[in-house]
Amino acid sequence: MPQILDGKILAEKLKISLKEDVASLKKRHGAVPHLISLLVSDDPVAAAYANSQKRVAEHIGIAYDLKILPASTSAQALVEEISKLNFDKKVDGIMLFKPLPEQLNYQELVNLIAVSKDVEGVNITNIGNLVMGDFDLVPCTPAAAMEHIRSTGVSIAGKEAVVVGRSEIVGKPLSLLLLKENATVTICHSGTSKAGKLEEHVKRADIVVAAVGQPGFVKGAWIKPGAIVIDVGINKVGDKIVGDVEFDEAAKRAAFITPVPGGVGPVTVVMLMKNVVGAFKLQKK
Ligand code: NAP
Repeated sequence: MPQILDGKILAEKLKISLKEDVASLKKRHGAVPHLISLLVSDDPVAAAYANSQKRVAEHIGIAYDLKILPASTSAQALVEEISKLNFDKKVDGIMLFKPLPEQLNYQELVNLIAVSKDVEGVNITNIGNLVMGDFDLVPCTPAAAMEHIRSTGVSIAGKEAVVVGRSEIVGKPLSLLLLKENATVTICHSGTSKAGKLEEHVKRADIVVAAVGQPGFVKGAWIKPGAIVIDVGINKVGDKIVGDVEFDEAAKRAAFITPVPGGVGPVTVVMLMKNVVGAFKLQKK
């Protein structure tokens, strides 16, 4: 049987360490890290979801504000809001919820967030820093996947890592993080599947990460015995949430595997808070 990489347990451990970090920053600076999340939406469900960050932030000792703007907000108004927050010395981290109403361009707007306050690591400069291998703030879901891999205690250097999916938010940054740890990285995408080569790549992977968005897409029989399997996928099938990996079959072969739900997801929000603490330290430099 594999070891199940329980995201809730890992998240709790990481929260304890962040809480200690925040307490010592408070002693040293007389202030705690402060996150502002911007939600441009009229949807009360989106607001309730967004506000779930508050519980995690406050548990760690981070000051948190959710600022809700109407769905009719213009690009100019949001540019001014971001600019104000960039200059506000009491604000350490800024995040912008997706999706945005159609009149707003997400990438253009996050590029305006000060590099040292971009706690989702999505600003073009932070992406560039990731490419250069010299970074402070990294995208939260890839960071969560890396925490799971590190938690196995298996050395990443020299391992064959196969990332299925090449989105800007998950697959590409995660590949760079694995590369930074000296894994030999292969990135698979729809072109790999069209060429009929996905199975052969996954079969030789010591570390497999699935970030595709299709239920049970990575077959359990493809998993190399003893591999680490990280399932980033979140797919609704009927009233159940399932991942991108055929869990039961994969679990027969893997040494470590994340469940869905309860694997990468719970760690992702803690990685956001880790970035807020990191951003606070950058402001105080
Ligand atoms: P995305 O932007 O839709 O990207 C999906 C990737 O899968 C693309 O690179 C695509 O390749 C690739 N793909 C699609 N069909 C394929 C095929 N037949 N063979 C090989 N690759 C294929 O999705 P995403 O934002 O990265 O999210 C991926 C999954 O992770 C989703 O289920 C999402 O809900 C979940 N997610 C979870 C978290 C979390 O915190 N746990 C956070 C973010 C996302 P092409 O580039 O060639 O089209």
